[in-house]
Amino acid sequence: MRITDVEAIVVAEPIERIARDSWDGSQDAVVIRVSTDDGIVGLGEVDSSPEVVRAIVEAPPSMRTMWGLRDLCLGEDPREIARLWDKLYRGTSYYGRSGAVMHAVSGVELALWDILGRATGLPVSTLLGGACRQSVRVYASLMTPPTPEEAAEAVRSLVARGFSAIKFGGGPLGRDPAEDEAIVRAARSADAGVELMIDVGQCWDTAEHALRVARLLEPYGLRWIEEPLWPDELAPYAWLTERSPVAIAAGEAESTEARLREMVERRTVHVLQPDVTRIGGLRAGQRVVALARAAALETVLHCYNTGITKAASLHLCAASQNLPLLEYCVEDNPIQSAVTRQQFPVVDGRVMVPTEPGLGVDLDEATLERYRSPRWGARTESER
Ligand code: MG
Repeated sequence: MRITDVEAIVVAEPIERIARDSWDGSQDAVVIRVSTDDGIVGLGEVDSSPEVVRAIVEAPPSMRTMWGLRDLCLGEDPREIARLWDKLYRGTSYYGRSGAVMHAVSGVELALWDILGRATGLPVSTLLGGACRQSVRVYASLMTPPTPEEAAEAVRSLVARGFSAIKFGGGPLGRDPAEDEAIVRAARSADAGVELMIDVGQCWDTAEHALRVARLLEPYGLRWIEEPLWPDELAPYAWLTERSPVAIAAGEAESTEARLREMVERRTVHVLQPDVTRIGGLRAGQRVVALARAAALETVLHCYNTGITKAASLHLCAASQNLPLLEYCVEDNPIQSAVTRQQFPVVDGRVMVPTEPGLGVDLDEATLERYRSPRWGARTESER
């Protein structure tokens, strides 16, 4: 079996539908589609800047450490995932090894697993070692509503949908401790038993300030506070994590195993949050999850994208004893809900792990065509 094409397909809601400053990344996506000469097609996805990922896939060969991913893949056997991954890593090493290139490599890697599963008739969880659970508990993840009253209403409505854990991210959170407390108090008063988390999106300047806010919010029993600090600040993170009365979570900003290993070894967080579409894919994910397990560090995958990312993350959760909980984006837009035919319904706060061969997802071609985005450079001024 040989690879005949690698495509990066960008889909996005029309930009005029949403104010730019309210974009949380759920309104666009980049799907990686790897085709083979025997007709099997694999799907992957990347949580990154879609247009940058498209450029990394499509870039023509330059010097031998600066190729685009498509040309590195053409003619290769897609079942040789580890060998091909290494070729991608080395073939991009002068402009890659982290950041957007590692994101793009992740998307190709997911598609290779999908191909191997389809070729063998096995779900990816089996290829990863076997499923230890058939369904995974998920937490609802959404942008923070603008007012405490709306936050309370969101909690009531998500609990009614079966969620037992909810995370608010961004929006008004992190600007003012009193405002943070009002939102958290309202959310807690809406339901005494649900697990609540907040994501302040790297917005606090110092660990001392983060500790003060964590102490202020301690009475409300938050499960964790996410990304309180700038991701490069490992020493302040370690200082905060040692003292905070509320668990500290982070890791989605990282794209290298080395960095995540440093976070585990220095215990800069209580909850590690790698994203398999950013750190190199499922093999890298398995290694990081195993490392965290050996260090007895809780791990909850970051997962804020379409059904392709949901499926890949569910397979890793199924195949990992220490991944009982998964993030689940509940933002209501067609990119999130309709890129794949599979919808991943939440029943009693859990989502079933796909059992079909490969990742177990298919593209909804009508949605894909409707929201397919022309190249950024090819757009007119008004389309931007
Ligand atoms: Mg986050």
